[in-house]
Amino acid sequence: MTAILDTAPLDRLADFPAIPEGWAYLDSAATAQKPWPVLDAIARAYGETYATVHRGVYQRSADMTLAYEAARTRVARFIGAGAAEEIVYVRGATEAINLVAQSWGLAHLKAGDRIILSTLEHHSNIVPWQLLRDRVGVEIDVCPLTADGRIDLDALAAMLRPAHKLVALAHVSNVLGSILDVPRAAALAHDVGALLLVDGCQAVPRLPVDVAALGCDFYVFSGHKLYGPTGIGVLWARPELLDAMPPWQGGGSMIDRVSFARTTYAPPPSRFEAGTPHIVGALGLATAIDYVEAIGLEAIHAHESALVARTRDILGRMNSVTLFGPATSAGIVSFAVEGVHPHDVGTILDEGRVAIRAGHHCAQPLMEHLGVPATARASFGVYSSAADVDALAAGIERVARIFG
Ligand code: PMP
Repeated sequence: MTAILDTAPLDRLADFPAIPEGWAYLDSAATAQKPWPVLDAIARAYGETYATVHRGVYQRSADMTLAYEAARTRVARFIGAGAAEEIVYVRGATEAINLVAQSWGLAHLKAGDRIILSTLEHHSNIVPWQLLRDRVGVEIDVCPLTADGRIDLDALAAMLRPAHKLVALAHVSNVLGSILDVPRAAALAHDVGALLLVDGCQAVPRLPVDVAALGCDFYVFSGHKLYGPTGIGVLWARPELLDAMPPWQGGGSMIDRVSFARTTYAPPPSRFEAGTPHIVGALGLATAIDYVEAIGLEAIHAHESALVARTRDILGRMNSVTLFGPATSAGIVSFAVEGVHPHDVGTILDEGRVAIRAGHHCAQPLMEHLGVPATARASFGVYSSAADVDALAAGIERVARIFG
C-alpha cells in the first residue's frame, strides 16, 4: 500500500492557496479547491480582458468571444466529443439534467414510457425525472445495487424492456465512489432502444472520460468539482439528439429571428444558452482542464485509489468503524462510527483540522438502502496526501475515545 503511494504522490498542495498547511481537506466530492492557474485565469479575465461575448463589434469583445469558444473546444477535446457544438454550457450537472428532462423529455416521452434510475443516484438525477413524471406520466423504475454498493447491471439487464426510453445513472457514486461500467450500461440500454444519460460529476475529476468510447448518449458534469469555478458545467449530447431538442429557456442569444408573430431558434449549442453566459466561468473551466490534463487523469486516479486503499485499510481495522461501498472506488469513502452520529464525527474531526462531509449527501434513497440516516464521507483530490488519511484516522480514534 505504501509502495503504491510512493509511486503516486501528486503533492500539489502548493498550487492551492485556500488549503492552509496542516488542514486536511477531505470534501473534494462536494467541491474541489482551486489551483493558482485557475485563480489567475479568473483574475485576468475580469481584471484585464473582460468584455461580453458574441455581440460586440469592438476588438475586446471579439477576443473574448474567441477565448470563450476556444474553451468550448477545450471541453470537447477533454471528454472526447466529436465537435465543440456538442458542448452546451450550463450552470452545473443539476441544470444539465433538468435541461434534458424538460427539453428532450417533454418532446420525446409520453405517458407510459419508462425511465430507469438507480438506488445510488444524487437527488439531481432523481427529482428532475419526477418533475417530468408529474407533467407527462412517465414511470420511474429503480435499478438495485450489488451487495457491495455498485449499480447491478445484471439486474438492469433483467429490468429493461422496450417501454424504457432512458436510463440515467451516475458514472461514480458521490457517496460510495463506486464506478459504473458505462459501456456495458450503454449496450444494455441500446438493446431495447433506450438512451443512456451519465451523471459524470464525480467521474471527470477522477477518471479519464471519453464519451465516444463510453457509448453513452448524454453526459453531464459540473466545473466546480473539476477544480474550476462554480456556476459553470457541461451537457454533452450526441449531435442528432441536440438537433431534435427544443429550447427550454427563452431569451437573448438563443434565437435565429424574433418577431411577435413567430420566433425561430439558433442551432445547438446556442439554442440552449439563453442570456449572457458565465463567460469567465468557461475560461476558468478550460484552465482547470489544462491543469488536470497536465497531471493526467490516470495519475490522478492512481493517486486517489491509493488513498482510498489506505483509508479502507486503516479504518477497516478499527472495531467501531463500518465502511460502506466497494473495496475499490474512485476517491470517495463513506463510513460510520458505531454509536456516533456522523455530524458529531464531522464536528470532532473539524476540531482536529480534518474537513469531511457528514449527511445524506443528496442521496436519501441510498441512505434508506444502507439503513442509516447519514454517513461520514472522506473524498480526495490531487492535493490529498497520506498525511491527510493519517489525520483522519487519528481524528476517528479520538471520536471513538470521546464516545467510547
Ligand atoms: N451528481 C453527483 C453525483 C454529484 O455528486 C453532484 C454534486 N454533489 C451533482 C450531481 C450535482 O452537481 P451540482 O450541484 O454541481 O449541480
